[in-house]
Amino acid sequence: MPKVIKNVGCPYCGTCCDDVEVTVSDDGKRVLEVKNVCAIGTQIFMHGGDHEGRIKLPRMRQPDGSMKDVSFEEAIDYTAKVLLKAKKPLMYGFGSTNCEGHAAAARVMERSGGCLDNCASICHGSSFLAIFDNGYPSCTLGEVKNRADVVVFWGSNPAHAHPRHMSRYSIFPRGFFTGKGHNSRTVIVIDPRYTDTARVADHYLQVRQGHDYELFDAFRMVCHGHEDDIPDVVANIPKEKILEVAEIIKNARYCNFFYGMGLCHSDGRNHNIDIAISLTRDLNEFTKCTIMAMRGHYNITGPGAVWSWQFGFPYCLDLTKKTMVHMNPGETSSVDLAMRDEVDAFINIGTDAGAHFPIPAVQHLKKHPFITVDPHINMASEISDLHVPVKICGVDDGGIVYRMDNVPIQYRKVVDAPEGVPSDEEFLDAVYNRMVELEGDGFL
Ligand code: SF4
Repeated sequence: MPKVIKNVGCPYCGTCCDDVEVTVSDDGKRVLEVKNVCAIGTQIFMHGGDHEGRIKLPRMRQPDGSMKDVSFEEAIDYTAKVLLKAKKPLMYGFGSTNCEGHAAAARVMERSGGCLDNCASICHGSSFLAIFDNGYPSCTLGEVKNRADVVVFWGSNPAHAHPRHMSRYSIFPRGFFTGKGHNSRTVIVIDPRYTDTARVADHYLQVRQGHDYELFDAFRMVCHGHEDDIPDVVANIPKEKILEVAEIIKNARYCNFFYGMGLCHSDGRNHNIDIAISLTRDLNEFTKCTIMAMRGHYNITGPGAVWSWQFGFPYCLDLTKKTMVHMNPGETSSVDLAMRDEVDAFINIGTDAGAHFPIPAVQHLKKHPFITVDPHINMASEISDLHVPVKICGVDDGGIVYRMDNVPIQYRKVVDAPEGVPSDEEFLDAVYNRMVELEGDGFL
C-alpha cells in the first residue's frame, strides 16, 4: 500500500515549506505524488524520488576525456589526496545540503587548511557586510504572518523565486492579528520591473534600476522631517508617491521589508542593505518595523549559523593558517580567489559553480583538480575530474536546515536513497578519516 508522509520539508527555496505531503510507493523507494508544494518543489520530489536517472556511482575523468564509474573508496581516496596535496584548496557551495554536511565540511577544511565558502558570497553576502556594520532588526516569518499589516517587497520577486512565501507568510494567510488575510495588509512592491509580485501590490514603485540608494535616502529624509528638501522626482518616483507610501508605512501597526537580489546585486550592494537597515531603524520611531533577507536556497542560512558557531564567521573562511580563521570578503570570497587564480583545488558541493560563477573564474578553477559532490549531473559535474553522487536532503536524507528567518527545521527523508550512495556528511567524514590515515599525526 502506498504510504502518505505528512509534514515533510521542501528542499528548494528559503521559504522551507514544512507542510508538504508525499505519497511513496509501498517499497519505500519512489515518490508517487506530492501535495502542498509549488511547481519547483514538485520537480525536486518527483525527480529526486525516482531512482531512474539518478547517478549511483562516482565518475572519474579519464585521460581520453571520458568519464568512468569508480568505487566510493576510490573517490574518497582521490578527494583526500587532492586536499592534502593542495596548498590552498577551496570548498564551496552548501546552499543545498543539511547542517550536518556543513559541520563535516568544516572538519575537512580545517584539517586540510584551505578556504571554505558558501553561496552567500555570490548572493546575500552583501547583506552580511551590511549586518556587520549596522545590525539586523529582523523577526520570524510567523511574526509577519500574525502581525504585519504593511509588507514591502524591495528588489525581490517571491511570485517566481519563493512561490509559496506570499501564501504561507507574507500576504494571504490569516494570522492572529491579521484575521482578514490579504485584506488586512497593504502590499508595496519596489522594483524596476512590473513583476508578478507587483501585480498583487497595492502600491508599485518602479524605481530606476541601480538607484535604490537614492530612494532609501528620500524615505529617510521624510522620516527625519526633511521632506521639503527632496527633489520632485527621486530614482524615477514622484515625490508625492514617496510621501504617500512613507505615510502608509509610518502609520502601520507592523511593517516588514523583504528584500532580495535587486539590492544585493545592483550598484551599491552592501550599502543598499545598510541604508535599508537604517530606514528600518528610523521607522521604529513611528511604528514597529523589521527587515528580512529573502535567502535563496532552503539551507543557505545553515552554513552561516553552523560556521559562525564553529569559527565565528559565516562565510569566506580562510583556514590556511589552521590555528586561526580569517574572513575578508573581496580577498577570501570564492570568485575573488578564483579570479586571482589563488586556489589550486576546488570542491563544488551542493551547488553548481559551473553554471553560476563568471566564466573566467571557472576557467581558472578548471586548471586544477575540480571535484563535484552532487546528486545530479549539472554544469559543474560535467567539467569535473571527479563527480561524487550523494543523497538529497529532504528526499532520501534528513537533517537540520535553517529557514530564511534563521528558524531551524528538522527535515525528514521520505524514500530510500539508491543503494550505497552516501549523504554529504558521510562522504565528507570518510574523506576526513582517509586524510587522517594518510597524514597520521602530521596535522599542524
Ligand atoms: S515555496 Fe520554496 S520551499 Fe515552498 S514548496 Fe515552493 S520551492 Fe519548496
